[in-house]
Amino acid sequence: MSQKIFVAGHRGMVGSAILRRFAERDDLQMITRPRSELDLCDQAAAGEFFKAERPDAVIFAAAKVGGIHANATYPADFAYDNVMMAANAIHAAYESGVHRFLFLGSTCIYPRMAPQPIEEDSLLTSPLEQTNEAYALAKIMGLKLCQYYRQQHGVLFHSAMPTNLYGPGDNYHPDNSHVIPGLIRRFDAAAKENAESVTVWGSGKPRREFLHVDDLAAAIDHLLQLSDPPDWVNVGTGVDLTIAELAQKIAQATGFEGEIVQDASKPDGTPVKCTDISRIRDTGWQPMIELNEGITQTVADYRERSQSGAV
Ligand code: GDP
Repeated sequence: MSQKIFVAGHRGMVGSAILRRFAERDDLQMITRPRSELDLCDQAAAGEFFKAERPDAVIFAAAKVGGIHANATYPADFAYDNVMMAANAIHAAYESGVHRFLFLGSTCIYPRMAPQPIEEDSLLTSPLEQTNEAYALAKIMGLKLCQYYRQQHGVLFHSAMPTNLYGPGDNYHPDNSHVIPGLIRRFDAAAKENAESVTVWGSGKPRREFLHVDDLAAAIDHLLQLSDPPDWVNVGTGVDLTIAELAQKIAQATGFEGEIVQDASKPDGTPVKCTDISRIRDTGWQPMIELNEGITQTVADYRERSQSGAV
């Protein structure tokens, strides 16, 4: 009998990667709802949806997301939307008899000064990074709810915390996107216009780790097959680089040959962010898509989408 899986947030970069991954599987029936039909912030609507559909499992990829600027500017929206969606979906899923729930968060749940590479056990050991505290607190609540429901009710609710993601279908908003799509957009425009320089935010010194979203979809597939998955697990590559090095790679992939200028008036955010992925490696998963290859592919995807007017 086929399993009914509800993918919350199927239109986002992560949700669409999950649907691509599972498209060929005839043992799975994927259920989705656009936001216009199901607003997970609405407790009654979430309850009714789960009662009517009764999915077997849920992959929770719904989130209000944004880069450093958006998070710092709209903290109330980031906290409220994310905590309401998580709490409503987790509780309604439990009440309707969902046996498995995979909650997705982000590695920004870990303390700003967590020892690097970041282990899962550093959660809640010291203060969070200010620029995305609101989002992080909401995601911590989601992760903890899954842990508590598993502990109290014996349901298999667990979480995965991906590092900074990139890939097809990203948000390319000029101000509110994350660094890779933000820079792809700017470098691509500069390369086309033969501009002399491109500005990169901050000092260029922060270190970040990046995971291709198709690698995350593979990790989700893997985690859903484990009979006793960890309560929460990091999903990343375990490899980081500086923003300046990243900018060079994007310049190369877009064909931009001018000068790269750092704008120190823009915030750096967390100085270093790289995850320890031993826990998920020990369960038998590892990333497959190398960063240069992933960036080249993402630049091609961006060009295709921008030509068709999709971004
Ligand atoms: P973070 O990992 O939560 O800090 O999220 P971001 O992806 O927004 O930013 C990562 C780093 O890239 C920060 O140090 C930013 O200052 C830097 N950065 C450089 N240029 C850009 C840009 O155009 N957009 C964004 N979002 N970040 C940039």
